[in-house]
Amino acid sequence: MPPMQLERLLHSQGFGSRKQCRALIRAGLVSVAGEPCENPFQEVEPGGGQDLPGLAFSVDGQAWHYRQRACLMLHKPAGYECSHLPTHHPSVFSLLPPELKERGVQCIGRLDQDTTGLLLLSDDGQFIHQWSSGKKRIPKRYRVTLKHAVEDSLVQALLDGVQLHDEPAPIAAAACEVTGSHTLALTICEGKYHQVKRMVAAAGNRVEALQRESVGGLVLDVAALPEGQWRWLTPADLQQLA
Ligand code: URA
Repeated sequence: MPPMQLERLLHSQGFGSRKQCRALIRAGLVSVAGEPCENPFQEVEPGGGQDLPGLAFSVDGQAWHYRQRACLMLHKPAGYECSHLPTHHPSVFSLLPPELKERGVQCIGRLDQDTTGLLLLSDDGQFIHQWSSGKKRIPKRYRVTLKHAVEDSLVQALLDGVQLHDEPAPIAAAACEVTGSHTLALTICEGKYHQVKRMVAAAGNRVEALQRESVGGLVLDVAALPEGQWRWLTPADLQQLA
């Protein structure tokens, strides 16, 4: 990344319009590498690399690192909608710093309001398309809690394929493991609307709770990332995803 003016760097990171960023800098609210800087046109080296943190700066006392693009994971709690314009519940974006929303971060595939677990987000259009496109058939594993006890016939139906309304052909789970009297680890490679709930219903049971545990090889570490928390994806995470 070539050097860029401080005002432009702040703008690229979601701190508002160029004018608003200029005002923040002129108000003495911005430090770069620990030094206050009141010149919006100061050339700075953004540094970092694809998905590695770059230049350290702070805005109004809050520490940040430059990022070329935003790729992150959120441990989604129940009761949040994956939408910028939620209708009945708060938006998952309310769990993120406003700067991330400002720089255009979007959900990569949606989880239902009552589903918990691993949600990926990014502001990189190509990345979002790559990982949300159904064509890539990325395995997504869910922990499914059922209303009625698991029966062999349920597992068999899910593995054989069930016919969902509005789908031209039956859809089968990529894997289905019984993990308890009322729980399954179910892997699907599509990303259809309410897919797990509809598949389970079509196979004669009902989903009581749903948690997404992994996407590709990227597994949510629930101990390291409690519900409602987010973190940047590391290059190692991105390799797991691929
Ligand atoms: N399948 C569902 O039914 N809901 C989700 O949130 C994700 C997959």
